[in-house]
Amino acid sequence: MPAWWGHVWHSSSVTPPRTLLGMFPHELEELVGTWGERAYRGRQIFSELHRRGVLDPSLMTDLPVRLRRCIEVTRSEEVRRLHSLDGLTSKLLLRLHDGQQIEAVEMNTARADGRKTICVSTQAGCAMACVFCVTGQFGFARNLEAGEIVEQVLRFNEPSHRVTNVVFMGMGEPLANYDETLRAIRLLIHPEGLRLGARRITLSTSGLVPQIHRLAAEGLQVGLAISLHAANDELRSRLMPVNRRWPIAELLDAAEAYFKQTGRRVSYEYTLMADMNDSDADADALARLLAGRLCHVNLIPLNPTEDPSLHAPSMSRALAFEARLRRAGVAATIRINRGRDILAACGQLRLSEKRRREAVPA
Ligand code: SF4
Repeated sequence: MPAWWGHVWHSSSVTPPRTLLGMFPHELEELVGTWGERAYRGRQIFSELHRRGVLDPSLMTDLPVRLRRCIEVTRSEEVRRLHSLDGLTSKLLLRLHDGQQIEAVEMNTARADGRKTICVSTQAGCAMACVFCVTGQFGFARNLEAGEIVEQVLRFNEPSHRVTNVVFMGMGEPLANYDETLRAIRLLIHPEGLRLGARRITLSTSGLVPQIHRLAAEGLQVGLAISLHAANDELRSRLMPVNRRWPIAELLDAAEAYFKQTGRRVSYEYTLMADMNDSDADADALARLLAGRLCHVNLIPLNPTEDPSLHAPSMSRALAFEARLRRAGVAATIRINRGRDILAACGQLRLSEKRRREAVPA
């Protein structure tokens, strides 16, 4: 078992203290009670934060001035904000109270449905060390507290264009920060808060099998996306060290159990890397692996990484891979990386900012 595994198991020891944004109404009621306030004030604070999205206490007009003065909302600071040329995607680099930097992405559809999806980070850095991922190359710094996760969503929520979907696919492995991720989900779907539907939330995992079983038993209708990226254990273990602990067969069993328990079709993420996992034989192996399972495969041409040996395949190769899967009866779609012009893949903006700062003379 690799040394970094300890981070995953003992992740709760690296989670910062609870913030106001990470508290449920009943917890806020108890808190304001200790200040000598009436309990209902706690629910008002929750509604100001999560329903109205007011993060500045001085603007919480439902509260008396004396209470506004008592409140301090721990918030991140915006370091950079980039907008894609098509105007549909924007990306935020945020600095947390202790200097850690994380990313959040807003993706809007051009369709009339007005869908606004926010991709959130759950950890500063990541311990999973997937070779094709910029964040994985940074290593792990700490878990995010639930309020730090929810704040990423609230930052993009506007009265005229509300957030409709949230995907836990940003920096970090959400299931390695299980408790705070689940708390964030329950805050996002809370009837007194943002009221997102659980079915509009998707959580992506590199394959922490015990936590997938645990999630299945939570009674939530959250979508599950599994980062597969290879159809055999030898290659997957090279690309994703987590596979040495929980190989493909165990992972697929857990996905099947998740589907049976929740009724939600599992999706598989498969990053296409030229001459690594994009051959006809790879497509056939993937089709055999997923044959008979009710699932969907998202094929994602690789984003640029630090590793010069990894490249995206040509579009014709990607299309051929997709066609082969479909012919074999496996539902598959090529997912074009939105916002490539704004470094929208996980970890890229943080890396670019680091380089920019290093390039500026002291
Ligand atoms: S792909 Fe996800 S799990 Fe793997 S290193 Fe990157 S952030 Fe971590």
